[in-house]
Amino acid sequence: MKFSQFGQKFTRKSGILQLMDDLGKALASAQPVLMLGGGNPSQIPEIQTYLRQRIHSILANGNEFERMLGNYDTPQGSDEFNQAVAELLKQQYGWQITAKNVALTNGSQAAFFTLFNLFAGHFQSGQVKKILLPLAPEYIGYRDIGLSEDFFVACAPLIEHLPNRLFKYHVDFSQLKIDDSIGAMCVSRPTNPTGNMLTDAEIQGLAALARQYDIPLIIDAAYGTPFPNISFTEVQPYWDENIILCLSLSKLGLPGSRTGIIIGNETVIEAVSSVSAILTLAPNSVGAVMALEMVRNGDILQLSQSVIRPYYEQKMQQAVAWIHQYFAGMNYHLHKPEGAFFLWLWFEGLSISSQQLYEQLKQQGVLVIPSQYFFVGLEDMGAHVHECIRISYAQPPEVIEAGIRLIAQQVRPLMN
Ligand code: PLP
Repeated sequence: MKFSQFGQKFTRKSGILQLMDDLGKALASAQPVLMLGGGNPSQIPEIQTYLRQRIHSILANGNEFERMLGNYDTPQGSDEFNQAVAELLKQQYGWQITAKNVALTNGSQAAFFTLFNLFAGHFQSGQVKKILLPLAPEYIGYRDIGLSEDFFVACAPLIEHLPNRLFKYHVDFSQLKIDDSIGAMCVSRPTNPTGNMLTDAEIQGLAALARQYDIPLIIDAAYGTPFPNISFTEVQPYWDENIILCLSLSKLGLPGSRTGIIIGNETVIEAVSSVSAILTLAPNSVGAVMALEMVRNGDILQLSQSVIRPYYEQKMQQAVAWIHQYFAGMNYHLHKPEGAFFLWLWFEGLSISSQQLYEQLKQQGVLVIPSQYFFVGLEDMGAHVHECIRISYAQPPEVIEAGIRLIAQQVRPLMN
């Protein structure tokens, strides 16, 4: 059997496939594992109760069950849900949008596949365009998504050192080169893996560049505002006709519903819908029905603000305290955790690569993600690329503490 170029590209041992395989195998094995590696959200009791009640009312009421599972939606996704989302965003932020500016996809991961390949790759003119990541490290899920090779170009961050062993990455606008070879820009906000929150000024700067070069700025708000709002710093959400905002129901507690929500201008939404019709006929209806009432009555904002955000903020503070306790005396740095549910640790001068550290930690029964996978398009940036790890603090506290303690034990002899 021989695979096409597409087949070869999408079946080779991509970074993400290897890691997901590892994580899956570790979870399935009889050995207990301290899972600090995955991207699963926590199962927050209040949210679980709310969603369970919603399932009961779906089963009890009228034709909701049928709407959830008995029909195909249009390729753009449930019109009533899209209307409700547009209404919510209009009310909250005054954005001039309607249901025509909203499309659903099977998780936002599928949205990135479609959007990136709409704007980058081979063009009719013979030109080849790329996606620019203005600040790497960036989300690992982007890196293998292009239908052609050499799909990304990225910009190394500026590093600001802060008190208490914290640091923060910033977009280095002086290094940002945009020309005809760039099809679109993309940032995650807050950023997976670092928990960084691009400032309002950075977003305004990128939006202005996008406008100037007539390319879209894709903002991945899978963890951000308005929901699930896992954000520990005050920033403004931003949208204009040139922005493609990608939201998701996953980190709210519904990753299994595979619901991504794209907010874009009508041309973008029509293009995404056309691709969805070919790829999937219609997006999953489960998330749209599950979340319809929450979006209509504003519970989705209320739960995000008063349950989900404080839940993760408390977990973050506890995890940071453990980091400082167990790593005391070492030359470690921690990215200022401003959102999402990850800590990004930088072991400056680590005597092995973080990939080797990952292997050692795996032997000890703790799973993390080594840094080089996140430097999409910037693999040759130097030592920093191999000195960091990402850990998730979505797991129960005893798992996080034991994991951090073990990482510190393992790292201590490897630091100068
Ligand atoms: N964007 C970021 C930054 C993520 O971390 C993830 C998942 O972990 C996604 C997008 C994709 O999420 P989903 O496809 O579940 O919406």
